[in-house]
Amino acid sequence: MELLRIGPVGRERPVVRAGGRTYSLESIAGDIDRGFFAAGGIRRVREALAAGTLAPVDIDGERIGAPIARPGAVVCIGQNYAAHAAESGSEPPTEPILFFKHPNTVVGPFDDVRIPPGARAVDWEVELGVVIGAPARYLPTREAALACVAGYVVSNDVSERDYQLVRSGGQWSKGKSSETFNPLGPVLVPADEIDPRGLRIWSRIDGEPRQDSSTADMIFDVAELVRHLSQFLVLEPGDLVNTGTPQGVALSGRFPYLAGGEVMELGIDGLGVQQQRLVPADAVVNA
Ligand code: MN
Repeated sequence: MELLRIGPVGRERPVVRAGGRTYSLESIAGDIDRGFFAAGGIRRVREALAAGTLAPVDIDGERIGAPIARPGAVVCIGQNYAAHAAESGSEPPTEPILFFKHPNTVVGPFDDVRIPPGARAVDWEVELGVVIGAPARYLPTREAALACVAGYVVSNDVSERDYQLVRSGGQWSKGKSSETFNPLGPVLVPADEIDPRGLRIWSRIDGEPRQDSSTADMIFDVAELVRHLSQFLVLEPGDLVNTGTPQGVALSGRFPYLAGGEVMELGIDGLGVQQQRLVPADAVVNA
């Protein structure tokens, strides 16, 4: 099954796709958020599907939002693919590199991405996103770590490289946190329905290939990342972990940075495809 959130920004409604049909989850869940996961939401959705108690809905023509509500935290791993570390001018890390992205960067998978005024080095990063389903705190084993994972999503860790590396002050978050810089979705696939190892992961700009790798190339896999992170912070239900991007970003020097009007397309096998158009932030009028 696939969980989605459908509707206008800020008024998304939870739905589930299963067996080729879409059903409303409003009878059992207000949203797909921390409370949903903490209360065993995925199990409850399965039970409702099996019982046939969910109402079918037609979502044609509706906006698709991020498949989870605004997370409590967006935790990111840097340089988790050796070839990407090399194209960034770095040695592969011997410990996972942790940085934070502001949770308000999360937007829908087909929403516009806004280029900050004056920004000249906006870059794409397709990543396997891990959604946390249970508190992850000082986990002893890889198995305990995987038991804390609710599911997986496609995530775009949009980055501004001057902000990240030149104006950083020594820490990357400034280059990762501009508004709209984390398109997510379209779907959340439960962890027991997909193996996160060995999924093809790719991106294109205006239809031209950029990244094309496999999650098998991660230096630290999902189980190790969640176990490791839990030694340093408590991951909570509904949190998002971006697990790093493979080679083929503009930072490599092989491709130009993004410009207004261009279209990013990103996908991971089994998790769907997302697409965003780049627009200037100063074209947006705040209500
Ligand atoms: Mn990243």
